[in-house]
Amino acid sequence: MNRIRYYCKNVQKNVSFKNLTSIKIGGKAKYVTFPNSESELKNLIAYLNKRKIKYYVLGNGSNTLACDGKYKGVIIKLSSFNSLYCHKNFIHAGAGCTLANLIKFAITNSLAGLEEASGIPGTVGGAVKMNAGAFNFEMAKVVRGVYVLREDNIVYLKNKECKFGYRSSGFLDGDIIISADFKLSGGDQKELLKRQQEVFGLRKSLPKYPSLGSVFKRQNGIIVSKLLDEMKFKGVTFGGAMVSKEHAGIIVNVGDATSEDVKDLINYIKKRCFLEKNIILEEEIKFLDN
Ligand SMILES: Cc1cc2nc3c(=O)[nH]c(=O)nc-3n(C[C@H](O)[C@H](O)[C@H](O)COP(=O)(O)OP(=O)(O)OC[C@H]3O[C@@H](n4cnc5c(N)ncnc54)[C@H](O)[C@@H]3O)c2cc1C
Repeated sequence: MNRIRYYCKNVQKNVSFKNLTSIKIGGKAKYVTFPNSESELKNLIAYLNKRKIKYYVLGNGSNTLACDGKYKGVIIKLSSFNSLYCHKNFIHAGAGCTLANLIKFAITNSLAGLEEASGIPGTVGGAVKMNAGAFNFEMAKVVRGVYVLREDNIVYLKNKECKFGYRSSGFLDGDIIISADFKLSGGDQKELLKRQQEVFGLRKSLPKYPSLGSVFKRQNGIIVSKLLDEMKFKGVTFGGAMVSKEHAGIIVNVGDATSEDVKDLINYIKKRCFLEKNIILEEEIKFLDN
């Protein structure tokens, strides 16, 4: 492990997941690496694979519940992969670029298609992997193709090959999204900014406490937050984790919540939904276990 610095110059040790994830929960990451270039990333991954050291690519951590103890693998942050290029109605964005910057760039270039995603926290890599979306929008609608580091090669996957589904994609374990191409359409900048403000307005009721957004996926047309509201889950608390009083589909960190508090609360909700409604809920959030 001490050779990591040989493969990646920018390494931080013992970083708290409270500073790496939006819900501000978790123990520590032994190593957080910030590769500076594709070649540095490739060499780092080749080394980790050879030594069978596990790794996890973390974007903004806005959909990741980290473990309480120490994560002994390597966290990879692609913050340096943040370039943005525009050509005609196409944008090429680095995986580490924030979604907010991508949307701002699209609007500045009078390109329509991404403004519905305004307010979704996260990076391009995380949003593509999760097929993030809101209202009638999802990333799959605007992604033209994705550059992925797969084993030792960078491959280009066209939209269909990404196998997007509801808040999911078909990338393989170990795949690292390097960048993505977006196909947008021409728009009027003023109209796009107006729509963006409307979208921000629609999102105003989201909880102010730290969270990961919606915990569960929509189920066969069932809106989970509505179901959980009807089942009176709002305000149910396990340790420092509480079902948001504003939005029953979101779990918030109201105190010094642990990952176990959140998992216990998730299991309690799942169990009751199954026993009382015969509904099997599936998590949308990702778990980073040690
Ligand atoms: C307040 C709030 C509101 C939210 N609202 C929405 C919403 O409206 N719609 C919605 O869809 N989501 C929403 N989310 C969830 C979250 O913002 C999205 O899922 C977002 O796309 C996650 O991006 P991220 O970079 O933070 O991902 P992370 O949490 O860092 O990672 C998520 C997953 O993507 C993987 N990943 C990240 N980068 C890469 C990469 N470069 N290559 C390969 N894998 C990668 C990670 O390993 C992990 O499996 C919300 C979250 C919060 C906190």
